[in-house]
Amino acid sequence: MNRISHWIDGAVVAGASGRTGRVFNPATGEQTAEVDFASADEVDRAVASAVAAQHEWRAANMSRRAEVLFNIRDLIDANRKEIASVLSAEHGKVIADALGEVARGLENVEFACGVPNLLKGGYSEQASAGVDVHSIRQPLGVVAGITPFNFPAMVPMWMFANAIACGNAFVLKPSEKDPSVSLYLAELLKKAGVPDGVFNVVNGDREAVDRLLAHPDVAAISFVGSTPVARHIHETGTRNGKRVQALGGAKNHMLVLPDADLDMAADAAVSAAYGSAGERCMAISVLLAVDSVADALVDKIRERIPAIKVGPASDQGNEMGPLISAEHRDKVVSYLDGAAAEGARLVVDGREGVPPRGFFVNPSVIDGVAPGMRCYDDEIFGPVLSVVRVPGYEEGLRMINDNPYGNGVAIFTRDGGVARDFQFRVNVGMVGVNVPIPVPVSYYSFGGWKSSLFGDHHMYGPEGINFFTRTKVVTSRWPDPRTSSVDLGFPQNR
Ligand code: NAD
Repeated sequence: MNRISHWIDGAVVAGASGRTGRVFNPATGEQTAEVDFASADEVDRAVASAVAAQHEWRAANMSRRAEVLFNIRDLIDANRKEIASVLSAEHGKVIADALGEVARGLENVEFACGVPNLLKGGYSEQASAGVDVHSIRQPLGVVAGITPFNFPAMVPMWMFANAIACGNAFVLKPSEKDPSVSLYLAELLKKAGVPDGVFNVVNGDREAVDRLLAHPDVAAISFVGSTPVARHIHETGTRNGKRVQALGGAKNHMLVLPDADLDMAADAAVSAAYGSAGERCMAISVLLAVDSVADALVDKIRERIPAIKVGPASDQGNEMGPLISAEHRDKVVSYLDGAAAEGARLVVDGREGVPPRGFFVNPSVIDGVAPGMRCYDDEIFGPVLSVVRVPGYEEGLRMINDNPYGNGVAIFTRDGGVARDFQFRVNVGMVGVNVPIPVPVSYYSFGGWKSSLFGDHHMYGPEGINFFTRTKVVTSRWPDPRTSSVDLGFPQNR
């Protein structure tokens, strides 16, 4: 059985805790590897390696750090296909989707290549007589990233690119469900010139996470995962004096108004609901259809579903893969099983015709959904689109704003005035206008509102640079006999 270990101080380190987890190929249902689960001692070893390496790394010339980031960029670019196939084998997403994930992650490495520009501070000359003031951004020290299963390459890149570019050392705790790609990236980073200890990977579960949350040498925690865990990470990390950004789950709505191009809206809903089998935090899971067009829109969506090719990534023609695990598949199916009893209608039943092996659920549509039903209230995280019919724009907007999540949202309309009103009033962090999955490009920042994000910083982009640095302001005066005197008053500038 293939064994997946840790990456500490620039080398693979076999786990010694005696605890392991099972890794599967979700397309076949077969176990493919055992992953070592780190003990607190093994986490301490990774953090110690990071502490030792960070002093020299932060002192490296800015242009040297940028050069290493450019090398990382080139190596990831050259190995896109290999990275996509490593992650797809454990996650299950089809290769085209995995390549898209790598491409969106790479954008963040490219952003971080501009670190000399990004870390420029401000300077004010003659703030007082002979006194100048300047601000500088400095790294935090050792920072940790804890990442989810659904983007095993991209989400680590969201974090580590900016973190190490800014002069921090990084400890990654990837999802235990698809850990191999992190070790693959670790090897590339070493080849790119990242010094040993600046990037470490500890595999594991809650035990490793709890140690990172408590470790006195970990200055900040960057987390992406489900809302209950995000809340726990934020509460515990901040209680322990750490800077924390914790991104949680989602329930993303797409509001379709009667004046929208219904074919475009149907294409978008199908793409955004079933891409990556709905296991995206920016997937559309609720379609808010205004009554007058709801029947037509649901018909158009139903017409498109039979054309979606579901199956293993090994067949290049497939467009949608399996879910991550048998437990998760059973959970998703439970929403289909329960829909009728809750008063909804299962109009496309994804339990039918699934491939014989693996953790598959086919694209599904539940119509007549309303708040209070499990399929509306819970994050399903599978290929299930819930249709809620609303009388008009205002009712749709109210429902979105009443939802406890606020990650992504989309409106489909031809009316620019309504779209502008929507972006002004909607309580959601990332908004699409005729765009179903509005993931910001890397030079903006990613983050939801309400229960989709805990902490003050969004992820990557300019906010990522802010998160991984702290500001120092220096007020200086050079000896000048003409401006020197004893003065016990509070320093004033006028
Ligand atoms: P998860 O919360 O189960 O796990 C995320 C990470 O936390 C993993 O590394 C896991 O090992 C660790 N973890 C799990 N339980 C823990 C516990 N009790 N204590 C400490 N650590 C724990 O999430 P997942 O199932 O891997 O990923 C899917 C979830 O992530 C969905 O809810 C999805 O919406 C969310 N997500 C959010 C974003 C975003 O940007 N907001 C992006 C991707 C995924």
